[in-house]
Amino acid sequence: MRTPVAANPDVALFTGIIIDTAMCLPCIAKKAGAPTEQVNALLRSISANLRLAVAIRQCAACLETKTTFGINTNGHPRDAE
Ligand SMILES: [Zn+2]
Repeated sequence: MRTPVAANPDVALFTGIIIDTAMCLPCIAKKAGAPTEQVNALLRSISANLRLAVAIRQCAACLETKTTFGINTNGHPRDAE
């Protein structure tokens, strides 16, 4: 099933939070003001359309080393298609 990401304002919110940074799920959820389950689901839909970088590194928000999610636009400009 394909989800039209552009039509979902939440996705724009989440991508804005994690663009060119990396944060763990709880911190993304806290910043977005959404439950982690919802964030997790949105991350999945984002990863289908954007370069979602998943890595174990220091979270930019809580500074703990854990699984973080980020969108790296460096060298990968988003094409409008
Ligand atoms: Zn964190």
